[in-house]
Amino acid sequence: MIRTGRQFLDSLRDDREIWIDGERVMDVTRDPRFRPVAESIAELYDLQHHPELQPKLTYAGGDGELTGLSYIEPKSAADLVRRREMVKLWMDWTGGMMGRSPDFMNVHMTGFGSAHDYFARGGERFGRNIRNYCDYLRKHDLALTHTLINPQTDRSKPVHEQGTAAAITKETDAGIVVHGARMIATLAPFSNEIAVFPSTFLQISEEAKPYAFAFSIPMATKGLRFICRPAITPPGGRVEDYPFSARLDEMDCVAIFDNVLVPWERVFIYQEPKLGNGMFVETGTMNQIMHQFATKNLAKAEFLLGVALNMADAVGINGFQHVQNYLHEMINTVELVRSCIRASEVDCVPGPNGTVLPNDQPLLTVRTLFPQLYPKLVETIQILGASGLVMVPSHDELSGERAADVKKYYQGANISAEKRIQLFRIAWDVSCSSFAGRQTLYERYFSGDPWRLAMLRYQSYPRQKELKERVWDFAKRTAEWETKHRAEEKSHVTAS
Ligand SMILES: Cc1cc2nc3c(=O)[nH]c(=O)nc-3n(C[C@H](O)[C@H](O)[C@H](O)COP(=O)(O)OP(=O)(O)OC[C@H]3O[C@@H](n4cnc5c(N)ncnc54)[C@H](O)[C@@H]3O)c2cc1C
Repeated sequence: MIRTGRQFLDSLRDDREIWIDGERVMDVTRDPRFRPVAESIAELYDLQHHPELQPKLTYAGGDGELTGLSYIEPKSAADLVRRREMVKLWMDWTGGMMGRSPDFMNVHMTGFGSAHDYFARGGERFGRNIRNYCDYLRKHDLALTHTLINPQTDRSKPVHEQGTAAAITKETDAGIVVHGARMIATLAPFSNEIAVFPSTFLQISEEAKPYAFAFSIPMATKGLRFICRPAITPPGGRVEDYPFSARLDEMDCVAIFDNVLVPWERVFIYQEPKLGNGMFVETGTMNQIMHQFATKNLAKAEFLLGVALNMADAVGINGFQHVQNYLHEMINTVELVRSCIRASEVDCVPGPNGTVLPNDQPLLTVRTLFPQLYPKLVETIQILGASGLVMVPSHDELSGERAADVKKYYQGANISAEKRIQLFRIAWDVSCSSFAGRQTLYERYFSGDPWRLAMLRYQSYPRQKELKERVWDFAKRTAEWETKHRAEEKSHVTAS
């Protein structure tokens, strides 16, 4: 099925335990700290029902039922293109600023479902569980949060010596009991279920086994609670004044498991550190995820470029050479990311059970380069905007006693004060606000520690041997040329 926004909002009214500012939130769809974000996600679901967009956002699922395209198991490069166009549509709707919109986890889970045999290595039932779970998600069009990382307590120690990480404490006929904490679960208040996966590399040891699991449970499961960081928008802040902060702060939480019972049918990996360590790469799911988030990165880079181009026009700086130079760097970022996504589709490779995987090499380029490129995009907005970014009153000023002053003194080169204020509030929110700071942090870390990812990229780069050999081959041909040349010179001298 494809849910409507209303069905999505209704599904969030359950017994979930969400805590913020020292209090429990009883209904995230009504609390002013969460309501605008819940409604923004509801808009994404509603787009699936828009007559013009529906063919671009959905496909006929296994039983012919309309299904969100982020659930598709791609069987060809054309399927990858279709899925990317769907993701791009949702991402453009949010300016690429909602990294964990539901399509992110839909692509994840579908990748795992396609590779069910991998999970069956730990026992046949686990392969069946992941397959059934993916069918369930697809059928109900659910939103998931996920958590991979253990609490940042003491990174110098192995997980079992930290005393805070979620661990299996008991096994019963009904399932496994999990106790401890996990960070971070972005989107948790707006999700239906939480997927709990291993990510950090676990030692292959008896001590690591209680930490080696993968499962998924409903948000309203008994004993499961979430503590949110403070909301970003100041209390009473209007959406017009905080266009991103107020509507698209997807929220980050710590997940606490207080002796939570996870039913066996929701367990996908059980006490298997080796399977946990290989889960993302060996299943090919990492390729699918990178394809999704590279598309998010493209939408985000394009949005920031759009902001910068408008700003340059608005205050008449677009003719200056260094301004054009900054803008060309932004264009390069957009086109680099676009080319990598396209190359990954054209050069797709066979995946599990008849699926295709987007090629990982161009996507790994985006994964490891974008954390460096994104702060530069933000910096360019700051450089071009300069004090114009703080020369922005709140929208109330446009209808207040000083409205005439504002209309006169806040206009731009070719733009009314009203539009200039709108544009520069957007620019502020993506470059200078707390929202902007969180976005930069997100781009640095959402896909893992960039330093360790860079190291892995080097270590696993498949063309190393070929490229090294090419250099030695060239050196050999150079030496041969030299030997031949000298011999010729010698025979020349002897002859003369
Ligand atoms: C805004 C935001 C949203 C996020 N949302 C989610 C989410 O929804 N779900 C989820 O699962 N995760 C999420 N994450 C977490 C993300 O996966 C992690 O931030 C990332 O994997 C890095 O881990 P860490 O934050 O624990 O950093 P740490 O591992 O604590 O690293 C901190 C610093 O120490 C260094 N360091 C630590 N250990 C080592 C080591 N062994 N070797 C070398 N250097 C080391 C790192 O390089 C880094 O500079 C989110 C993160 C952010 C910032």
